Amino acid sequence: MDEIPMPAPVAERPRDARGYPVLAITPWSDGKPDFAVTSTARILVCAVERRCSICGTPLRKGPVWRVVAAEEAAAISVHDNAAYTNYANTAQTVEPPGHHACMLYAAIVCPYLARPTARRGNDALVPEAEFRRGEVHGSLDGMTGAVVAFDTYEFEAGETVRFRFSGLREFLPYTLGDEHLVALRDAIAAQPTAEPCPPWLLDDESSAERRAAGYA
Ligand SMILES: [Zn+2]
Repeated sequence: MDEIPMPAPVAERPRDARGYPVLAITPWSDGKPDFAVTSTARILVCAVERRCSICGTPLRKGPVWRVVAAEEAAAISVHDNAAYTNYANTAQTVEPPGHHACMLYAAIVCPYLARPTARRGNDALVPEAEFRRGEVHGSLDGMTGAVVAFDTYEFEAGETVRFRFSGLREFLPYTLGDEHLVALRDAIAAQPTAEPCPPWLLDDESSAERRAAGYA
């Protein structure tokens, strides 16, 4: 973990007791982050204010990024070059967008996203020995996911916030997230200095809820 470069706005995040940065969309209660869920209120605030779901700082003009799981990565990859940029994610998703560097970082460090044998809600790192590259080959071509850029997003808010992405720009598939370490270093080097994350996307849940209520 110490060898993985951390984007500056992620390094500024509030930390949990172990010292891990806590995402902008992770809710807090009693002074502790709950990594098992994401906060609809926080996701709504990020969507309306066009902020990164990981670091909470603004998304600038240009493409937005997200990490997609194996099935969606496979669906995107079957498009040939001509259709590539016309690919639109017609299915809605609850996964919100973020910065290039932040999404690469998430793909590398998040056990659920980075390891084919990992599962959401299991916050223990999967031991390297349990993973054998050959096991994941097959219909998904060895892909466990991809970091993908889209021109635009739209969203609808209800019980959850549902996103629709269009205008595929870049598609960076991986088997293990750490294949993107070089891309992460490049993205961090290219990342302009961000303004600080606002207080309503830090560790004060009532502030996040009030902000979301204003938009709902
Ligand atoms: Zn970010």
